[in-house]
Amino acid sequence: MKFILIGIQGAGKSTQGNLLRDKLQIPYLSTGHIFREMSKEKTPEGRYIKETINAGYLIPDGKTLEIVTNYLHKPYYKNGYILDGFPRTSKQAEEFENGVDKVIYLRVSDKEALWRLSGRDDNRDDDTLKAIRRRIEIFHEITEPVLDFYRKKGLLLEIDGEQSIEDIHKEILSKIK
Ligand code: AMP
Repeated sequence: MKFILIGIQGAGKSTQGNLLRDKLQIPYLSTGHIFREMSKEKTPEGRYIKETINAGYLIPDGKTLEIVTNYLHKPYYKNGYILDGFPRTSKQAEEFENGVDKVIYLRVSDKEALWRLSGRDDNRDDDTLKAIRRRIEIFHEITEPVLDFYRKKGLLLEIDGEQSIEDIHKEILSKIK
């Protein structure tokens, strides 16, 4: 099965993605994680990625599509995957060639997400308040149309992401059946 997790930063995508991976034994892949690893490289590309993610902007679609497509061609992902953080733009959604079975949208309010992120003690380098606010803005402007794209295809599952971690996990499992 091929799943996509969508939600604003702080919605719980990686928590739920990891729970789902353990439960279903399907590999989990986060584009944010891939880009953060690439940002450590001491090359012009690494520096560019670092500046872009630290400022809260998106990596251009062409680069993102190329990287995700290369990853998903690996045999490890042949039988399915849980993809966290991609697609984030309409262009990425339209040009993504791999099939998708279900898109799980973890819905939380901006206020709840900001509250959760402010209390997180594993804050990353790219987690300044300015960058977080920009990511939330970009989600509403640029990623929300992706929700409509999948809604129209009948693939979108909307989950109330403000429940407990365990209740969200159970709801996801019952809805993907
Ligand atoms: P995340 O861990 O999903 O919040 O991603 C961290 C950062 O990586 C984002 O703020 C973007 O700069 C970049 N990124 C991750 N996924 C994508 C994507 N699908 N398209 C463009 N940029 C992305």
